[in-house]
Amino acid sequence: MSENITKPRGTQDFCPDKGPIYREITRELDRYFTLHGIKLVDIPMFEQTKLFIRTVGDSTDVVNKELFDLVNKGESQYSLRPEFTAGIVRMFIENKLYASPDLPYKFGYHGSMFRYERPQKGRYREVHQGGVEILDKKLDIFTTVDCICLFHNFAKKLLNTDNLYVSINHIGCDETREKWKQDLRKYFKKHLKNMCPDCQRRFEQNPLRILDCKVEDDIKIASNAPTVDQYLLKEEKNEFELICSLLTKNNIKIKKDPHLVRGLDYYTGVVFELYQDNGDLQLALGGGGKYQNLVKNLGGPDMEGIGFSYGLDRLMMVLSQERKDDFLDKFTPEVFLFTFNKTEKGLTEYIKISNILEQNNISFTYANLDKNLSSTIKQADREKAKYLLILNEDLTVTVKNLLERTQVDIKVSEIAKYFERTK
Ligand code: AMP
Repeated sequence: MSENITKPRGTQDFCPDKGPIYREITRELDRYFTLHGIKLVDIPMFEQTKLFIRTVGDSTDVVNKELFDLVNKGESQYSLRPEFTAGIVRMFIENKLYASPDLPYKFGYHGSMFRYERPQKGRYREVHQGGVEILDKKLDIFTTVDCICLFHNFAKKLLNTDNLYVSINHIGCDETREKWKQDLRKYFKKHLKNMCPDCQRRFEQNPLRILDCKVEDDIKIASNAPTVDQYLLKEEKNEFELICSLLTKNNIKIKKDPHLVRGLDYYTGVVFELYQDNGDLQLALGGGGKYQNLVKNLGGPDMEGIGFSYGLDRLMMVLSQERKDDFLDKFTPEVFLFTFNKTEKGLTEYIKISNILEQNNISFTYANLDKNLSSTIKQADREKAKYLLILNEDLTVTVKNLLERTQVDIKVSEIAKYFERTK
């Protein structure tokens, strides 16, 4: 017997019970981006590996352990993108989009990213993300707060819930973090022998990364580590307080977490993650933050950025059944076709009917010609079609309204007008 080929570990099939839900989320995202003047962009799924090393950082798990490298075909070394920000900033610089005077630049995207993680509930190797990057010479406080509001409000609208909060921190500038790192080193040194091998490496490379460790004993140790707030400069503290106050006044529930660092090296200043409050899923629905030096470090102008990304798989997981059903309904065909007349003449009319429906933007589907009427009605009900359109032996048409259980007889030439009236 031949071996069944299965999908790779940590990937998902979006079969017809899930595909429309994913599509609707991305459609809603595009609509929301456009509502907020965010330009829609797409970038390659793979980039030169050095892009991620220079931005995400080689002390991070994302680059160190989780990068999917492509087999080298004699060109540059390539990797599948493990996130979007680096690629978007590369796009911005390479296409000289900064030449436009219309600041701030706002880009929105969605698509797959890849991380070689241990697959488990809510953690995949192919992850669907959607997000925004905003770039400006100097990000003002409105743009910063607006970005976090967008981040929170789209999820609130999509999930139709108030049950969300933003976990937030300010990780300061390079100098602030350097002081924090020194004290973190002093603190973790005492505990290092009891910590996991990854943390021992992180201790050498970048002790901030220890705060991201998912090992339970290490989390306990890290919970007593020095917090960043003691090192923040006065203006950083003030900025953070103002951001938090504006968010709270805008009805966004926030929880300050002075240990929140996020798993990517380019962040500076405010960082944030979105969670369900008292929800089943303890994992972040999305995350983001400000990055002061990324554009400059990649050879672009001296500009700041702020952005966020949702895990769309996780948004799908926490979407209520009611919302899922709403989304699925949007993709059900309006009309189900059936013909009693299977002669060449009948089939010619049948094709004509399908063309009329297409031209009038009426979605439709049909069963194969072997099916009888009663099993076709059952199939149309399963498909949640509103109408069954029957081509009779004499080439007239019977339209059955499947919801109201009523019917009328019309001519083929009257189909377009009939459906225009029902709209
Ligand atoms: P990150 O930039 O790593 O914080 O990723 C942003 C968001 O993407 C996270 O908050 C998650 O919602 C989602 N995400 C990241 N990694 C995974 C994964 N392996 N599986 C599912 N979702 C993920």
